[in-house]
Amino acid sequence: MALDNKIPKGDISTKWTDYKAHINLVNPANKRNIDVIVVGTGLAGGSAAATLAELGYNVKAFCFQDSPRRAHSIAAQGGINAAKNYQGDGDSTFRLFYDTIKGGDYRAREANVHRLAEVSANIIDQCVAQGVPLAREYGGLLDNRSFGGTLVSRTFYAKGQTGQQLLLGAYSAMNRQIGRGKIKMYNRHEMLDLVIVNGKARGIIARNLVTGEIERHSAHAVVLGTGGYGNVFFLSTNAMGSNVTAAWKAHKKGAYFANPCYTQIHPTCIPVSGDHQSKLTLMSESLRNDGRIWVPKKLEDAQAIREGRLKPTQLAEEDRDYYLERRYPSFGNLVPRDVASRAAKERCDAGFGVNKTGEAVYLDFASAIQRYGKEQARIKHLDENDADLVYKLGKEVVENKYGNLFQMYEKIVDENPYETPMMIYPAVHYTMGGLWVDYNLMTTIEGCYCIGEASFSDHGANRLGASALMQGLADGYFVLPYTIGDYISKEIRTGKIPTNTPEFDEAENKVKEQINFFMNNNGKYSVDHFHKKLGKVMWNKVGMARNAQGLSEAMEEIKAIREEFWKEVKVPGTPNGFNQELEKAFRVADYLELGELFAKDALHRNESCGGHFREEYQTEEGEAQRDDENFAYVAAWEYTGNPREAVLHKEDLVFENIKLVQRSYK
Ligand SMILES: Cc1cc2nc3c(=O)[nH]c(=O)nc-3n(C[C@H](O)[C@H](O)[C@H](O)COP(=O)(O)OP(=O)(O)OC[C@H]3O[C@@H](n4cnc5c(N)ncnc54)[C@H](O)[C@@H]3O)c2cc1C
Repeated sequence: MALDNKIPKGDISTKWTDYKAHINLVNPANKRNIDVIVVGTGLAGGSAAATLAELGYNVKAFCFQDSPRRAHSIAAQGGINAAKNYQGDGDSTFRLFYDTIKGGDYRAREANVHRLAEVSANIIDQCVAQGVPLAREYGGLLDNRSFGGTLVSRTFYAKGQTGQQLLLGAYSAMNRQIGRGKIKMYNRHEMLDLVIVNGKARGIIARNLVTGEIERHSAHAVVLGTGGYGNVFFLSTNAMGSNVTAAWKAHKKGAYFANPCYTQIHPTCIPVSGDHQSKLTLMSESLRNDGRIWVPKKLEDAQAIREGRLKPTQLAEEDRDYYLERRYPSFGNLVPRDVASRAAKERCDAGFGVNKTGEAVYLDFASAIQRYGKEQARIKHLDENDADLVYKLGKEVVENKYGNLFQMYEKIVDENPYETPMMIYPAVHYTMGGLWVDYNLMTTIEGCYCIGEASFSDHGANRLGASALMQGLADGYFVLPYTIGDYISKEIRTGKIPTNTPEFDEAENKVKEQINFFMNNNGKYSVDHFHKKLGKVMWNKVGMARNAQGLSEAMEEIKAIREEFWKEVKVPGTPNGFNQELEKAFRVADYLELGELFAKDALHRNESCGGHFREEYQTEEGEAQRDDENFAYVAAWEYTGNPREAVLHKEDLVFENIKLVQRSYK
C-alpha cells in the first residue's frame, strides 16, 4: 500500500485552520448513534475520550490499570511546553515549530509539528480552566522554566508532578462524561486484538483482568492511545505495565509501524545499581536548569572517587570538567537529551565515570545554591558574605523548585543531594517510533487512529523535553476530535456494529488459543527471565550507540530468545482471574517480535540522527552525522508474517519552511 500522509495543501501557518474549516462534520443527532472505542486513558486517550464524549459520541474507554488516574502519564515530572511567550523572551509558534523540528534532527513531518505548535497555547488555557494547578509566579501569573534544546522558557509545570496534575484534569473531564453515561469506562481491561471487518477497524477483543473473561467490543472507529514501548529494554523509566501489545496487534493486522528504532535515552536518571532492579528512576530534565553536569578532569581523580578515597566536594573547581558547558557553550547544560546522553556516555567510556561501575556523572547544585542564596541575601538586605546564611537561603530556593525530586533521590540513593552532587546516567525513557499515522492521526487501517506516545509522533528522531505531554493533549483535546469526524461522517448510515460475526469469532478464538498455550506450556522459565534476556541484548547492541555488526547479532539473538520463549515459558496461576504473569506473557511475546523489527530498522538506517546513533556515522567530534540525501524519510514497516520479513515503505520528509542543515548546539 502506498503511503498517503494526507497533508492538506496551503501555507503552513494556515493549513490546519483551513483544513478544519472544510472537513466534513457529523450532526449532533447523528453523533448519538456513533460508537468510538478509545483504548488507553493516559493523557492522550483520556483527553480524547472526554472530548469525543463531550461532542456527543458514545465512547467506550479501556485501560489496564484500576483507574485512568494511574496511567503512566502520571509519572511525568518536568512540564509541558506551549508557545505563549509569557516571558517575552522571543518565543512564538514558529519558534516552537522550529525547535521541535531541529530537536528531532529533521526527521519529523513539518505539517504536524506546526499544528502542534499552534494548538500548544490552547492546551494551557484548557488545563487552567479545568483547575490544573500549574505553577505561578509571586504576582499570580503562570510561571515557566527552560528545557533542553531551546533558548526560551516555555515550559509550564506543577512542581515535579506535572503529569499527575494534568491527568487529574483529563480524568475529571472524563468523569463528567462517565457520569452523563457518554463514556463507559472499562478499567482493568486489556485489549488483546483488533477486529477488522471489510478493511475497517470495527472493534477489539479485551480480557477482563479481574475475572479473566474474554470480551468483544464493537465501534465505528477505534482509537489507540496506549503509550510507549520503552520497556522492550526491560529497564526503563516507564511504568512497569507500559507495553506495546495494542499497537503491535494493530501492526499485525495492517497498521504500519514507523521508525521503531528511534528511542530516547534520557540523560538524567539514577544509575543502575544492580541486577535485581526492574525499574529506573528519572530525575527530571528541569534539574538541568540549575544543575551543572561534570566529571573530574583527571583520570586519577575519577578513580579515587570511584574507590571512595576522594569526595566530589573536595575536588577544586579547576579540576572539574563541565563537559557540556565546554563543548556546547551556547546551550550548555540544556542541550537536547540525545546530545547530553551521548556526551555522558563518552566521558564514562573514557574512564571518567564517578560511581562504582564507572557509569555515572555528577549533577551539581552547589553553584545554584550560591547564586540563589546571594540573590536572596541582596533582596533581603542581608550579608551576602555570610556563607552559612547564603547556603540556607539558596537551599530554600532550590527546595521550593525541586524539593520533591531531591527527596525522591535521597530516598533511593541514600545521599543528600543538597550536600553532595547527584549521580546520574542515561536510561531508556521514551519511544519516538510507533504506529504510522497520517495528518488525520489515522493508521494505515481505516478507522483505526493512534495518538500520544503510541503513534510515531511529531518528535522525529529525538523528542525535546516537555513535548510529550504537549503532543498527547494536543492529539486528544484539539486534533483527533476534528479529524475523526471527517471519517465518521461517512459512517452515519452504518448502524450498530454486530459482534456475532466471523471476524470477531476468529479474533477471540486466537486470543483464547494463546491463553491456553501459556497456561499449559509448563516450561522451565518465568516470563521475566526472557524479558531480562531481551533487555540485555537491546541495551548492549541496540541501545545508545549501535553498529551494523551488533545490530545483526542482536536480530539473531532476539530471534533465538523468542524461539526459546515459546518452548520454555512458564505461566503459573489460572486464566480465570487476576493473573499478572499471564498479562506479562502477552506483553513480552510482543516485545520479542518488536525487538527484532527495532534492530532491523536501526540496521537499515545508515546514518545517525537524534536518538539513533550509529557508530559508523559520526563527525570527527563524535556528533551524529545525518544523511539527508538518502534517509530523510519516515521508515514505515508493514508486517508480512514475521518481523524479519517486514516490508519498508518510505514517507519522504519535505522541508519547505525550515532549512535542512546539520544540527548544532554550539
Ligand atoms: C518518568 C517520566 C517522566 C516524564 N516526564 C515528562 C514531562 O515532564 N514532560 C513531558 O512532556 N513528557 C514526560 N514524559 C513522557 C510522557 O509522560 C509520556 O510520553 C506520556 O505521558 C504518554 O502518554 P500517553 O497517554 O500516550 O500514554 P500513557 O500515559 O502511557 O497511557 C497509556 C494508556 O494505555 C492503556 N493501555 C496500554 N495498553 C493497553 C491495552 N493493551 N489495553 C488496554 N489499555 C491499554 C494504559 O492502561 C494507559 O491508560 C515522562 C515520561 C516518564 C517515563
